[in-house]
Amino acid sequence: MSRVYNFSAGPAVLPEEVLREAADEMMDYKGTGMSVMEMSHRSKAYDTIIKEAEADLRELMNIPDNYKVLFLQGGASQQFAMIPMNLMKNKKAAYIVTGQWAKKAWKEGQIYGEALAVASSEDKTFSYIPDCSDLDIPEDADYVYICENNTIYGTKFKTLPNTKGHTLVADVSSCFLSEPVDVTKYGVIYGGVQKNIGPAGVVIVIIREDLITEDTLPGTPTMLKYKTHADAESLYNTPPAYGIYICGKVFKWLKKMGGLSVMKEKNEEKAKILYDFLDGSKLFQGTVVPEDRSLMNVPFVTGDKELDAKFVAEAKAAGFENLKGHRSVGGMRASIYNAMPKEGVEKLVEFMREFEKKNS
Ligand SMILES: *Cc1c(COP(=O)(O)O)cnc(C)c1O
Repeated sequence: MSRVYNFSAGPAVLPEEVLREAADEMMDYKGTGMSVMEMSHRSKAYDTIIKEAEADLRELMNIPDNYKVLFLQGGASQQFAMIPMNLMKNKKAAYIVTGQWAKKAWKEGQIYGEALAVASSEDKTFSYIPDCSDLDIPEDADYVYICENNTIYGTKFKTLPNTKGHTLVADVSSCFLSEPVDVTKYGVIYGGVQKNIGPAGVVIVIIREDLITEDTLPGTPTMLKYKTHADAESLYNTPPAYGIYICGKVFKWLKKMGGLSVMKEKNEEKAKILYDFLDGSKLFQGTVVPEDRSLMNVPFVTGDKELDAKFVAEAKAAGFENLKGHRSVGGMRASIYNAMPKEGVEKLVEFMREFEKKNS
């Protein structure tokens, strides 16, 4: 068996320990004589799996009792619609447009009501986070929407926007569980798990209870009402059962690692190795203003498309996979999520240093 260093933005690297455990339990999960994949989601064994997953997530993120944790399907993209359908009581919301995912959410919001872009960083290809300390947010806006970590462009909100008392909704797909968060500052925190937590097919929504109501937009399907899933404790219909089981294992792994403050330290340490190298390099440059740099997704370029392609190809041959930048941006991007070991980043930087020597 040989494993590569996988810098994919998502689906992405998972802890080897978790993969090994899942392999060990594949044929016979804890004496049940079956795989979790083959198990009824109404069984006692599965009930324990999903309850423990929720309890461990609550502990990791210190989620208050007045928030529900929902394990849903449809990816992060489905939330782009589910959020307005459930939250747009006044049919008005403020969006901060900091990248492709925020823009998609904003566009989707326009289907359901007045979705206003109250700030944007598109003028400089989303390479920074706009000043959100005093935005023009309408009084009757139902929520303020952000994409907290911009997976494609590699920026991150280091301070949350001043919502002027409005409900904050955040897509945290690519920074989920990478550092501690104060859940009380948000109305909704959600993310697809395939970036930093588990296999694609699960989206986790953490939502304040008062936002879960029957009063959704007319025509909202039963499956797209938060209330449906909150009332049924994520078991209204068959959930993405195996995916949730793997998420649960990752939560236990994170607890064993020491929790989210320890993860933050590790992530800062890893990111610093890469950013320090980029700052000192004459060949490679980071593309984001230093103060808004993401700890998770690090885009960089040489400034020469052919050289970029050569780098990606040679890196791949050397065991560094998925370093090609998003198709909309080009260049390179190293995603260095929780499960990427420090050694992977060190080796990548070593490789980049060698490449620079040979190509300048
Ligand atoms: C990947 C990603 C999405 C889209 O996720 P899907 O599960 O594929 O719908 C949305 N937002 C962010 C921030 C992402 O990184």
